[in-house]
Amino acid sequence: MSPKLADAQVSRAGVAVAGVAIGDGHPIRVIAGPCSVEGMEQFRETAIAVKDGGAVLLRGGAFKPRSSPYSFQGLGEQGLEIMRAVADELEMGVVTEAMSAEEVLLVRRYADMVQIGARNMDNRALLEVAADSGLPILLKRGITATVDEVLAAAEIILARGNDQVVICERGSRTFEPSTRNSLDIAAVPEIKLRCDLPVVVDPSHGTGRRDLVAPVALAGIAAGADGVIVEVHPDPEAARSDGSQSLEASSFPAFMGRVQAMALAVGRSV
Ligand code: PEP
Ligand code: MN
Repeated sequence: MSPKLADAQVSRAGVAVAGVAIGDGHPIRVIAGPCSVEGMEQFRETAIAVKDGGAVLLRGGAFKPRSSPYSFQGLGEQGLEIMRAVADELEMGVVTEAMSAEEVLLVRRYADMVQIGARNMDNRALLEVAADSGLPILLKRGITATVDEVLAAAEIILARGNDQVVICERGSRTFEPSTRNSLDIAAVPEIKLRCDLPVVVDPSHGTGRRDLVAPVALAGIAAGADGVIVEVHPDPEAARSDGSQSLEASSFPAFMGRVQAMALAVGRSV
């Protein structure tokens, strides 16, 4: 184990995001919201639904790392403004992705946590700027990254003096075509055995399929995850990105009921 990771004691105190502590000894945290912020109405409606259901942090994309240049790229700063306004109204924190140093600086003005996406996990310059922003960081494991590699990326952040890092297992590229990615359940306890950083699972990108989101979220919690980040949309069929893996807002309470039951089964709360 590398020096800073060995020293880190963050999980006991928890990584604090807008007053919400994530980590060992804290409840299972559910972070929910749409893949992309599409407008005030869509984000607000989703945020109200997930807050009512028991999510404690919001997610939403303003800068989207899409595979095609012709796909919706996000609303940019307008998306950040919408997220901040709704998060303030609901008194919640919000996490969003930045893909460049410039975006980190913008995100810092509006969000409570910055996400480093899977496609950027090994972008050292971006990790350093994100670390220096002082924001807590949601570090997503790269699509083809090993556990060693995601921990090395975390180390880059810790070495800059920012230990507020949550690692996200979001699935790897494998030979299996029935799911978008293969979520590596064993990585959850493995990372927690090797360092003190909190781990969350992302069953949305981890499967690409709405019907698999709940079972894989529960498996992640059973394996020791400290939280779940999940995509939710009021009308997934009309979503501008990742509709097929987004839970319908109306089904969110049922999802949370299952999360709560699993959390209790492993001696945690929600
Ligand atoms: C996302 O969370 O919206 C996202 C694009 O995630 P990932 O980087 O894991 O693909
Ligand atoms: Mn998405």
